[in-house]
Amino acid sequence: MKAEDVVGDLESVLLSREEIDEIVKDLAAKIDRDYEGKDVLLVGVLKGALMIMADLSRAMKSQVTVDFMAVSSYGSGTKSSGVVRILKDLEEDLMDRHVLIVEDIVDSGLTLSWLQTNLKSRGPASVEIVTLLRKPDALAVDIDVKYIGRDIPNEFVVGYGLDFDQKYRNLDVLGTLAPHVYQ
Ligand code: 5GP
Ligand code: MG
Ligand code: MG
Repeated sequence: MKAEDVVGDLESVLLSREEIDEIVKDLAAKIDRDYEGKDVLLVGVLKGALMIMADLSRAMKSQVTVDFMAVSSYGSGTKSSGVVRILKDLEEDLMDRHVLIVEDIVDSGLTLSWLQTNLKSRGPASVEIVTLLRKPDALAVDIDVKYIGRDIPNEFVVGYGLDFDQKYRNLDVLGTLAPHVYQ
């Protein structure tokens, strides 16, 4: 789905197809360089990471293993509470593995902070994080995100895996919604 297919729903296009491709290519090159000679296990956080996982892994030159996890944050409203429940766990054993968590966006950072601690307790050789997007609030959390695609303003974004009410994940750009959609 392209921006023109939902043109009335979008307030603005934050990142175009070309900009996303460029960011993902840069991330892949950095990761390839840092993990040279190592086997990487990419852990995608469902569902938001579906696009970044597909594109990042394809842009990498290294052999990788791919696995997915689904988690949900307890709590009401749109802010995550930091109390996390595992909906789908990994299939891979993390012992002595180089784990790279693949995220769509770090907002409060609470989900990721919990996830990083959880994965570290499974005996991996290393756990790092790559995220396509980061919001300013994430800076208030003590979490080390090694690879950041783009810092964005504190706005709710959709597309490229990110949803509003489970919709817009298949939009191929990143945009902000027009108020009439969520009001
Ligand atoms: P955090 O725990 O860092 O606050 O965010 C957890 C999850 O909330 C993210 O992985 C993402 O799925 C969702 N989220 C955070 N900000 C946004 C946003 O601007 N748009 C959408 N669609 N989801 C978001
Ligand atoms: Mg996510
Ligand atoms: Mg969502």
